[in-house]
Amino acid sequence: MKNKGLLVVISGPSGAGKGTVYQKVLQLNPKILSSVSVTTRAPRAGEKEGVHYYFKSLAEYQQMIADGAFLETASVYSNYYGTPKSAVLDRIDKGCDVLFEIDIHGARQIKSQYKDSVLIFLMTPDFKTLKKRLSERGTETESSLKNRLGSAKNELAQYGEFDYYVTNDIAEQAAKDIITIINAEKLRVKFNKPTIKNLLEQDF
Ligand code: 5GP
Repeated sequence: MKNKGLLVVISGPSGAGKGTVYQKVLQLNPKILSSVSVTTRAPRAGEKEGVHYYFKSLAEYQQMIADGAFLETASVYSNYYGTPKSAVLDRIDKGCDVLFEIDIHGARQIKSQYKDSVLIFLMTPDFKTLKKRLSERGTETESSLKNRLGSAKNELAQYGEFDYYVTNDIAEQAAKDIITIINAEKLRVKFNKPTIKNLLEQDF
């Protein structure tokens, strides 16, 4: 038997820099696999089936929901997005670590379906920085900015559901902190039971 891989989720409020930090973690450790979601939205130019997403019709997606095939699913901008359970759990069983970048609702659904998942809350050093990052996107009005900051505070108040808290001041450092978390988690006794049991069965 092999040690299982880890299911690691980077979550946190919009503007915290989840996407940037996620890409940096994958660059720093190419052995970590990126999860591929299922969606009902049409492929954009250059997007490949099984690489960017698994593209499904609404009927196929609804059948997958009925079959309990998702670790989490959400409706975003009138399309469905979800994390396929069997593809992720197969990789974990093979010993691969799989990384997710997902909102707090998705993170919660994943934890409820897979208790050994490691949830990381990513946040800017303070709300002033979060406000600045959201404003710099140029997509927010004054009232939507206020809404997003209010949501960010609500999300932060749910910190108790998370295993780790990482401050994203400098993205490179935040990514290194996440690699440190992954390395430490992999040293937990509960993830090393197959190795230990194999050793115990060996002769001197
Ligand atoms: P896009 O259509 O631009 O690729 O993604 C739109 C939104 O869907 C993004 O905010 C992205 O984070 C979210 N999204 C992508 N995949 C998933 C998923 O598997 N689960 C959830 N909950 N959201 C997702």
